[in-house]
Amino acid sequence: MKKKKLVIFDTTLRDGEQCPGASMNKLEKLEIARQLALLGVDVIEAGFPVASPGDFDSVSQISREIKGVTIAGLARAVEKDIDMVAKATEKAEFSRIHVFLATSKTHRDFKLKKSKEEILEQAAKAVAYARRFCDDVEFSPEDASRTEPEFLRQVTLEVVKAGARTVNIPDTVGYAIPGQFGKLIRKVVDSIKNEDAVISVHCHNDLGLAVANSLAAVKAGARQVECTINGIGERAGNAALEEIVMAVRTRKDFFKADVGHIDAKRLLSCSRIVSNLTGLLVQRNKAIVGKNAFAHESGVHQDGLLKNVSTYEIINPTDVGWEKTNLVLGKHSGRHAFINRIEALGFRLDGEKLDHAFEEFKRLADVKKEIFDDDIISLVQGQFSEKTGLRYHLKKVKTTVETGVRPEATVELSDGNGLVKKATASGDGPIDSICQAIDKITGVSCKLLDYSVVSRTSGTDALGEVSVQIENEGRKVWGKFAGTNVVEASAQAYLNAVNKLIMYS
Ligand SMILES: [Zn+2]
Repeated sequence: MKKKKLVIFDTTLRDGEQCPGASMNKLEKLEIARQLALLGVDVIEAGFPVASPGDFDSVSQISREIKGVTIAGLARAVEKDIDMVAKATEKAEFSRIHVFLATSKTHRDFKLKKSKEEILEQAAKAVAYARRFCDDVEFSPEDASRTEPEFLRQVTLEVVKAGARTVNIPDTVGYAIPGQFGKLIRKVVDSIKNEDAVISVHCHNDLGLAVANSLAAVKAGARQVECTINGIGERAGNAALEEIVMAVRTRKDFFKADVGHIDAKRLLSCSRIVSNLTGLLVQRNKAIVGKNAFAHESGVHQDGLLKNVSTYEIINPTDVGWEKTNLVLGKHSGRHAFINRIEALGFRLDGEKLDHAFEEFKRLADVKKEIFDDDIISLVQGQFSEKTGLRYHLKKVKTTVETGVRPEATVELSDGNGLVKKATASGDGPIDSICQAIDKITGVSCKLLDYSVVSRTSGTDALGEVSVQIENEGRKVWGKFAGTNVVEASAQAYLNAVNKLIMYS
């Protein structure tokens, strides 16, 4: 049997962005879109243009700048939303309008207050309207897994007849169970077998089954999977792209689906970039991209691996981007080597950003003997928040820690006009004192909701990556910074978050 291509539809920038605390700025979204295009996904769902002017701009910018991949925008089944998607994606090389309308009884009765007939009519009308702008229209019956199967079949047939090229069956509330969901998908696939349309799935992870349900659907004939990097998304998240791709690839004997267009070696860097830009850490035991995904502790396993890797390893870690010998740069590496390395990692920096990144690289090389890929990723990513024009820069931070003495910190910041301001504050700990001193200068008083430090590289001179989440008047933002000096990195991370608050207000 010939393998069928599985369309990978990434919704990190739409559904993924909806997860609490994951909001990104436009440049960060553009960078993720660029990385997704390099990874080789077929469709990037860039946003929900009607939701906010920021979302609209972001979808437009991605449509203008990211080529070679389909850019989709989400719309409710109403003309206004469809118009907005058509407009936002008009500069895309390939565009798709993704229309959704709820079909389950619960949603019909309580949310929409509409009969089955009205839903059928509205869905078909919206799809036909979207087709006026774009040949590539996708329809999603929201809450499909709780919709009466017969009605779902009817809706599917109706929207395909109205011009939908893809019908996506979402398990919106994460209610499905693989065996059952597979049967439902088979039924839907069979119902349109005479039509030229693709059946897709979009599964949520409320019961931890998003990937399992998606794979059951692939086995049952679905030809598109909607997923996100690291499985981020509403509530418990979506199906993880890296797990779907590697399951289909590793078990091609079983799935007989083709994901050869995905450059799996980029999975790890995509995962790191998304984690860095959203502030959502990847758990250590996460399949494929978690720190421990290929770590073998047990002596028996280690012994087996040394004799033959296939004893305990079903995936070669290098196939998904874990390099055995990650190239090391150092103090004597020149600008050329630095540029080569960042390009190999998939980044593109030019002009001032590149100068700035190289300066920081040199500064880091002075205090850290070996610079690993992870260090470079952290360093380059620092440039994305910089790009948006930081209001305050950290000039100096000093803090004292002594048993029995209340900690105190002195901070110097320069504002957008280069004016240096200084403040001293004391707090419950050194970090608290630093935050308070920064607040004194900026005049924005923030509550620290979350603070974590993880080591990004190995050794005692490793980069500590500090993530903070702060709140001011109900708005929550993330800030991140990596550096060998954890105290300074904490001040930088906090300041990054404060700058975001100021810039977006
Ligand atoms: Zn969703």
